[in-house]
Amino acid sequence: MYREKDFDIIVIGAGHAGCEAAHACAKMGFATALFTIYLDTIAQLSCNPAIGGLAKGHLVREIDALGGIMAKVTDMAGIQFRMLNRSKGPAVWSLRAQADRILYNVYMRKLLEATENLFIKQAMVEEIVVENGKVKGVITSLGVFYGARAVIVTPGTFLNGLIHIGLDSFEAGRAGEFPSKRLSDSLKKLGLKLGRLKTGTPPRIDAKTIDFSKTEEQWGDFPPPPFSYSTKEITNPQVPCYITYTNEKTHEIILKNLDRSPLYSGKIVGIGPRYCPSIEDKVVKFREKPRHQIFLEPEGLSRKEYYANGIPTSLPYDVQVAFVRTIPGLEDAEIMRPGYAIEYDFVYPTQITHTLEVKGIEGLYLAGQINGTSGYEEAAAQGLMAGVNAALKIKGKPPLILGRDEAYIGVLIDDLVTKGTQEPYRMFTSRAEFRLLLRHDNADLRLREYGFRIGLVDEETYEKFLKKKEALEREIKRLKTTIIKPSDELNRALTYAGTTPIEEATHLDKILKRPEINYEFIKRFAPSEESLTKEIEELVEIHIKYEGYIAKQMEQVERMKQFEEKIIPEDFDFNLPGLSKEVIQKLNEVRPRTIGQAMRIPGVTPAAISILMVAIQKGA
Ligand code: FAD
Repeated sequence: MYREKDFDIIVIGAGHAGCEAAHACAKMGFATALFTIYLDTIAQLSCNPAIGGLAKGHLVREIDALGGIMAKVTDMAGIQFRMLNRSKGPAVWSLRAQADRILYNVYMRKLLEATENLFIKQAMVEEIVVENGKVKGVITSLGVFYGARAVIVTPGTFLNGLIHIGLDSFEAGRAGEFPSKRLSDSLKKLGLKLGRLKTGTPPRIDAKTIDFSKTEEQWGDFPPPPFSYSTKEITNPQVPCYITYTNEKTHEIILKNLDRSPLYSGKIVGIGPRYCPSIEDKVVKFREKPRHQIFLEPEGLSRKEYYANGIPTSLPYDVQVAFVRTIPGLEDAEIMRPGYAIEYDFVYPTQITHTLEVKGIEGLYLAGQINGTSGYEEAAAQGLMAGVNAALKIKGKPPLILGRDEAYIGVLIDDLVTKGTQEPYRMFTSRAEFRLLLRHDNADLRLREYGFRIGLVDEETYEKFLKKKEALEREIKRLKTTIIKPSDELNRALTYAGTTPIEEATHLDKILKRPEINYEFIKRFAPSEESLTKEIEELVEIHIKYEGYIAKQMEQVERMKQFEEKIIPEDFDFNLPGLSKEVIQKLNEVRPRTIGQAMRIPGVTPAAISILMVAIQKGA
């Protein structure tokens, strides 16, 4: 075997998890190698050409606040940006961007290639070498050994990937790419338990053959709001998406051909994403629905290819052609790439800790789809945290573990390692119990400090952030301490806005709290002496309006903290009298770090928690 030079950290896979992980490790000062099967598909958007959306957008902002790269690359490659849920409360606002698939790849690669300490290599890793419970390096398919102090595994959908189109199937990591076949065996040999999941993608259509006049045009926001706190302006031309619908004819064709579906014929064993079902699944499960919405999303500025969001399918090619051509606007559609389903191996995530390190194997980290998640943003968030924690560990520093009250990233990782998953896990706002604290707008206020401390956020960016934070605090204080006297003009404006006039001098924050009043109103009658950015004005308004609810959530966080702070010793013996076999088994599997975490393990009852607490107090 040929031994190449050693690295500090090796990252296997240059998907969304791998890119974040490698960037973080290199930025934190470690010689890092990033291995990928095919160099030209770095950070490939395997499925839809879009980043963000509900809860996923929160993850992207959090990655940015911590010093990750997904938001910046999205801003460079974005061709449509929309803030979703504007009509609802700020806790659920979320940004979504259409990204140019090629530009995303180009800018990510450019950024990584320009990163010091980072070396990208096209190679298939086949084995992870571990000695005495400690990772030592990797071996590639060409028989080359690379030594490392930590290895981060992010192989996405490639682990024993098997593509299905109708009753045909073939091995691939993604359409047109080799699968990763030996790595699963290596992971199994290390004692890890693997399962099988599935996901699917829709056909791509040639724009020349779409009659856009039969669809509804949908534009993004103007000016386009960027994802990254560092982006001043989105410079790409912005383009629309188009909306169309399936109909009864479409459904009839799908239902008639179910016997040729790998899903319904039992050929696919992996469990698919419940929240992103195939069109055949939707038609079967919601038979009463006469139509399903489809977004035709541009694949990029230089391409004539449209992604048909809403009809992922693994039906045979001829059936795809037939049902697609029943859809308004797609009567003459030519399919450029067929839809398909892919099955792949994943690792049951209760086998890793909150730092994403494999239990019992020092220096081996897993991130992304391999941990049972689905989605670019979920993968990137884990990649970042795995990279940061691998680097912190080598530095001999304490890990960075984000709480459920601090970040969606914290919720994501805690859910995975505590509850595990049997189906592709994706992030939703409903998974977070402290939604009002974890807003899209305040990601930097929650996380910038951490990003700076670990060395991913530079001095200049941090200084800028501190200035913004101070300006925000000053303005909130001003509104709380400044009174405004009643006047005819003010009372007329209040009445016009649909609220009651004031009869006595009133604090500005009390007026802003009224649902009918916005910050613009306050600015008109009592402007700040400082010139505040739109962003700060919006933050001030949200803070004042939701102050009461935010305070209530903070109280809940405090109550929860008493359990989160009750540490369970690492070597604690869970075989306690009074606990059922099932509970003991679950506690042994997850090995919770705190009582709070133990409380979240499904099946661990309040009675079991009491027994556990007493035993810990006694030092059992
Ligand atoms: P990937 O982005 O898959 O990247 C994996 C990387 O690892 C690649 O660069 C690959 O070359 C590399 N690699 C693998 N094995 C090795 C090895 N042995 N040695 C070296 N390099 C290796 N997400 C959704 O949210 N919704 C969907 O509906 C959806 N549908 C999908 C449909 C399809 C067909 C596919 C393929 C993916 C779909 N996704 C969907 C998932 C989305 O693509 C992933 O969640 C996301 O890309 C995972 O990121 P990752 O970094 O974990 O892995």
